[in-house]
Amino acid sequence: MASCIFCKILAKQAPAKIIYEDESCIAFQDINPQAPVHLLVIPRKHFASVEEAEMDDLPLLGHLYRVAAKLAQEYKITDGYRMVVNTGVGAGQSVFHFHLHLLGGRSFRWPPG
Ligand code: AMP
Repeated sequence: MASCIFCKILAKQAPAKIIYEDESCIAFQDINPQAPVHLLVIPRKHFASVEEAEMDDLPLLGHLYRVAAKLAQEYKITDGYRMVVNTGVGAGQSVFHFHLHLLGGRSFRWPPG
């Protein structure tokens, strides 16, 4: 999608601190981190949210979580981390290309704000 900032990062047309890449996804540092570790894991395939994901995308969604879990180990945040998917403007979604936030390195409250 030409207007999508995450598609531009995938196409290397916009800068990002990419820390992981494979055939179906990439991970990079969030530009406005909300925790000492704040990474985004995104599929190469563009879809806005989990609601737009198709049945065929289910293995891809699972893969994103597995990649995030591996990154949590690499970044040594396994004592407690959050994987967050904001869905819709009301939940704070601002980029409409599916992404998994991986946050760690600090304590978290429940319920989330
Ligand atoms: P959300 O609000 O859940 O849609 O999350 C979007 C996230 O993308 C926010 O945490 C932003 O800080 C982050 N973000 C937006 N643009 C960029 C960018 N160019 N590089 C890295 N992170 C970005």
